[in-house]
Amino acid sequence: MPESSPPFPNPKSLCVFCGARFGTDPASRTTAMALGQMLANQGVTLVYGGGGVGLMGLVANAALDSGGKVIGIIPRFLLEREAGHPDLTETSVVETMHERKLQMFERSDGFVVLPGGLGTLEELFEVLSWRTLGLHSKPIVIIDQGGYWKPLAALLQNVVEGGFAERTHLDHVAFVNGIDEVLPTIAAMPRSAGLAKRLDRV
Ligand code: AMP
Repeated sequence: MPESSPPFPNPKSLCVFCGARFGTDPASRTTAMALGQMLANQGVTLVYGGGGVGLMGLVANAALDSGGKVIGIIPRFLLEREAGHPDLTETSVVETMHERKLQMFERSDGFVVLPGGLGTLEELFEVLSWRTLGLHSKPIVIIDQGGYWKPLAALLQNVVEGGFAERTHLDHVAFVNGIDEVLPTIAAMPRSAGLAKRLDRV
């Protein structure tokens, strides 16, 4: 796509990937709640893993408290461990992790990543790798809360520089520093932006 292609339309729904724990940086909790509030205030439906624990629970509760719509997709076997949220707008109980990720993917117009652990990385890398296979062109915005994702930006840059991915594969990935940048970044995301520009922002 040429640089002049139109930007993505405003998303109706965004899927948030984030920790089922709180992490050690207390500021992550504030950011998670601010993200939930922002999505609700902007009329963007939150799609997420359906749990009530960790940063996941905070994003969902903040969105609900602000009058937003929240869709949770949770495997039956995790209902107890991740405290399946009882008060969501819609809960979809699935049988496997693969079904969960597919529904999260299908029901959202883009992805927002907060600090998280291995599950968050797994979810992120799946949508990233699907992108490299040309399976979608949905935007992926990574909130670099407190520099938490700086090593990830360096790793992705290294993958490209090492010749294992094209720069264009990361055209739809952006690192941002705060919640306020999420929707403007998605709206302005050019379809053929250079990787370096985005990773430089970290
Ligand atoms: P974490 O980032 O490890 O705290 O996990 C965040 C979310 O990712 C939780 O809802 C986990 O259930 C989920 N998760 C954990 N492992 C995986 C996996 N292998 N594939 C997909 N999701 C996962």
